[in-house]
Amino acid sequence: MSNVKYKRVMLKLSGEALAGKNGYGIDFEVTSRIANEIKELVDMGIQVGAVVGGGNIWRGRNGENMDRTTADYMGMLATCINALGLQDSLESIGVDTRVQTAIEMKEVAEPFIRRRAMRHLEKGRVVIFAAGTGNPYFSTDTTAALRAAEIEADVILLAKKVDGVYDKDPHKYSNAKKYDKLNYIEVLEKGLQVMDSTATSLCMDNSIPIVVFGLDAPGNIKKAVLGEKIGTIVSK
Ligand code: UDP
Repeated sequence: MSNVKYKRVMLKLSGEALAGKNGYGIDFEVTSRIANEIKELVDMGIQVGAVVGGGNIWRGRNGENMDRTTADYMGMLATCINALGLQDSLESIGVDTRVQTAIEMKEVAEPFIRRRAMRHLEKGRVVIFAAGTGNPYFSTDTTAALRAAEIEADVILLAKKVDGVYDKDPHKYSNAKKYDKLNYIEVLEKGLQVMDSTATSLCMDNSIPIVVFGLDAPGNIKKAVLGEKIGTIVSK
């Protein structure tokens, strides 16, 4: 534990990250690789909370002609499917987990109860937070920021398809520049694609650092926790 920089972490996995090459649904090779990386952290005594997105199944903005709140509830339900998928991958390798949902579905998972979540973490269980914040018009990035503040996480590990924060889209521009460090105001002022502005502001107000890194390279989650220089760190 001595070289560990963060003791309690909030891992944010976008839905896209779980989809693997297919771009849709859950790729269980990917969730199983992520589960093994999470297990390494748990074995090191690190407390792990995880927020999963839903974009691999449904995003509110997919429902162009739909009532926005209905479309968002569909998105929140999509995150529950992902949460159960990740839970299964973790449990299959012997990691104790609990899924807590912001929308009650007690036959499927526990409701979100902060004190209970903290207790699970202290006991070394991975807590997966599903159904976003339970409110439409929010994102799972905001959920990660909110739950991180609530459970007093030391950091948000924002696992992405890209390996950090760039000044422009690295897939489109070969001269895109990667930032090593940023502060919250720079992210907001430059409109950088880190998290949405609500999530970034919440992290800023609560001084929660965010490490943005690529999930494709194996071992990155552990490197982020050890404080090794990967991706981009957003802090005060
Ligand atoms: N969502 C919501 N409220 C929340 C969190 C999520 O309404 O608190 C809905 C929203 O429609 C969003 C979808 O759930 O598009 C999936 O979440 P998100 O887009 O953040 O997933 P990701 O991009 O991380 O896969």
